[in-house]
Order: sequence, then C-alpha cells, then structure tokens
Amino acid sequence: MNIILLGPPGAGKGTQAARLVSERGMVQLSTGDMLREARASGTEMGQKVAAIMDSGGLVTDEIVIGLIEEKLQLAEGNGFIFDGFPRTLGQADALGALLEKMGQSLDCVVELAVNDEVLVDRIVNRAKEAAAAGEPVRADDNAESLKKRLIEYYKKTSPLIGYYHAHKALRSVDGLAEIDVVAGEIKKTLDSI
Ligand code: AMP
Repeated sequence: MNIILLGPPGAGKGTQAARLVSERGMVQLSTGDMLREARASGTEMGQKVAAIMDSGGLVTDEIVIGLIEEKLQLAEGNGFIFDGFPRTLGQADALGALLEKMGQSLDCVVELAVNDEVLVDRIVNRAKEAAAAGEPVRADDNAESLKKRLIEYYKKTSPLIGYYHAHKALRSVDGLAEIDVVAGEIKKTLDSI
C-alpha cells in the first residue's frame, strides 16, 4: 500500500509516518529528511537548497522529484509513505507517473487536518524541546520561517486536497487529537481500503 501524509508543517506527518514504519514495515520517504541529509553531507545540491529551506520556501520540483525517483528505485518494504512530498501539483503529477512506471499506484492520501494556532505552538515547542535536550534545533523552526512555510503550504500544497479528492483518494483525519488517537484513526482509514 502506498500512501501520502498531507498536511501543513507541524501537523504530525513525521510522527505518524514513524509509527506506520514500525507497525506496518512501510518505508518512509521524507523529502525534508533527504534535503537535510544532502545539506549535512555538503553536496552541491545541499548547499544550493540551504538558504531556501531556512527561509521556509520550497525548493524546486526538479530537485525533489529527482530525490524521490532515486529513493523509489532503491527502497524496498511494505509500501511507501510519502511525507512532505508532493507539495505542488507538478510534484503530484510526477509522483503519479513514477508510480505508474513502476507498475504501482497510490492507494490513499491521508490529510491531517489542523489549525494554524496549534501549528505555531507545536513548532515553537518542538524547537524548545530540542534546545533543552541539547539536540540541534531546525533552522526553519522559528516564527519568521514558519510564517513563510504556512503561506507556501496554503498557496502551493493545499490545492492537492482538491486534486486528490478529485482522484477519489483523499481521506481526512483530525490531526488535533492525541497522537495515539490520530494513529488509531489512520489505522482505521488504511484498514478500510
Ligand atoms: P519538512 O521537513 O517536510 O518540513 O521540509 C523542510 C523544508 O524542506 C521545506 O520547508 C522546504 O524548504 C523543503 N522541502 C521538503 N520537501 C519539499 C518538497 N516536496 N518540495 C519542495 N520543498 C521541499
């Protein structure tokens, strides 16, 4: 089963993806993680995207589609969880074409529905917790970048909700509930398809 977790920054996509990996043996494909890895290892591409990521903007479709294509060829597991990808209609079309080429398809798009006040609180807390634990704080987990990330989400990513609704793949889950409750709702949703 191949699924997308769709939602704004801080909606809980990464947290829920990690649970699906351990509970179902699915493979998480997070373009955010891939880009952070590229930066950490100092590749040319990593250097190119650093400033865009820190400001909260989106890197080009070409770069993220290339990353996903590469990983799809290597990864093996019980289905893919796309986390933070696609983020534009162009990426969504490209994903459909890539899966088709592999003889696979998208089974479900789970939208984690939340509201902006919660997102700001969650992200500010994520940064505080990381700092208190002596872990690195994401350079884009600050009020200014978050504002840009939210604008990018509403402008470029939220149209995917309509797109996947039209493809009859969209399921919406209340992302404001407790982590376990959200996980339970996702499980119910996936078991029903
Ligand atoms: P994330 O970890 O998913 O919040 O992503 C962190 C940052 O990486 C985003 O704010 C973007 O700058 C970049 N990014 C991650 N995934 C994508 C994508 N699919 N398209 C464009 N930019 C992305």
